Amino acid sequence: MLLVSLNLSAQNYIVIIDAGHGGKDPGNLASSKTLLDEKHINLDIALRVGELISQNIDNVKVIYTRESDKFVSLDDRAYIANKNNADFFISIHSDSNNSSTINGCRVHIHNGSLGESKNLASTICLNMKEIAGRKNLGVQDSWQRGGHYFVLKNTAMPAVLVECGFMTNETEEIFLNSEKGKKLIAQAIYKGFDEFLYAMKVKTEKVVSNSNQFSQISDKYKVQISASTEAISFSRFKGLGMKVEEVFFEDGVFKYKYFVAAGSSFSEAKKIRNKLISKGFSDAFIVEN
Ligand SMILES: [Zn+2]
Repeated sequence: MLLVSLNLSAQNYIVIIDAGHGGKDPGNLASSKTLLDEKHINLDIALRVGELISQNIDNVKVIYTRESDKFVSLDDRAYIANKNNADFFISIHSDSNNSSTINGCRVHIHNGSLGESKNLASTICLNMKEIAGRKNLGVQDSWQRGGHYFVLKNTAMPAVLVECGFMTNETEEIFLNSEKGKKLIAQAIYKGFDEFLYAMKVKTEKVVSNSNQFSQISDKYKVQISASTEAISFSRFKGLGMKVEEVFFEDGVFKYKYFVAAGSSFSEAKKIRNKLISKGFSDAFIVEN
């Protein structure tokens, strides 16, 4: 085992946690009086996410667009983010659909936005599945969805809008209302953000890397092909014909993560990721090295 220290940076980062809707704007309405409207679910999850980040990540400061049930315009939300010169923006919503069978988590980014937005969206999606047991509906460009996604268009930093689940699906609405559901969803968003920071080398933490089975990837991009609670035998990856890197994460549920090199351009990385997906690594996603 070898200790690898990252580029430790004393710089402080700011993340905006944006609870969707509020006050006179309830968002999606609850199906019954005993359940919560969207604005309340969003706020509850948002405050939990912010608290997890504040408690666990040293160099990231949390700013909320609202901390109570009050109306904040979309303009003001973007203004708060831009005025504070924020580094990351996470908006939290709960979805609805005409079909009551549709369920799962979807993360929106603004069409054509920074690669970082996509990376953050990917890690949140993955953790929504792993930690909160949500169906992963994937990352979606927001261009076709209109005004709801205004905040993504008008924020000048990596920005994602998380649709935590569908209030129009009976089971999922109950999950979104439950203490357990809100807690797990908040943990998933936090963990997704945390992993994204790690991949960006933004987070200050010590990482232990088992480097004797591979040489460290130096490409600008790499693709995560697998994450596991236990170390995976490298023979599993032999058929790939690619160098696989194992990285040990001390504080995660999935402590062992496996990456392959993905070149120096994002388009090249996408090609490699698509090839890996076609080879059965359906959750493969790109991270910046
Ligand atoms: Zn909403």
